Amino acid sequence: MPELTTPDTVTVPEGDTLPVTDEGDHDRFAHYVRKSDAAQAYVEGTPVRALCGKVWVPSRDPSKYPVCPDCAKIREMLLRRAAN
Ligand SMILES: [Zn+2]
Repeated sequence: MPELTTPDTVTVPEGDTLPVTDEGDHDRFAHYVRKSDAAQAYVEGTPVRALCGKVWVPSRDPSKYPVCPDCAKIREMLLRRAAN
């Protein structure tokens, strides 16, 4: 099972990421993280690492926030690489 370490080395198959919202007051974006990480974060309050490298404990509903442009870029790159 591939481990998500840094944005340079992640391998995220389509459907394996989930947008979650960051906790900051000024940086309210929905970031992409691994689904399993997000699930654990919601249950246990452990921090997650987004595709863009941001680490935080998610808690808010991401649906009302715009997707983090860095995460979107990285995810698109990964999906394109996976498709080739
Ligand atoms: Zn992000």
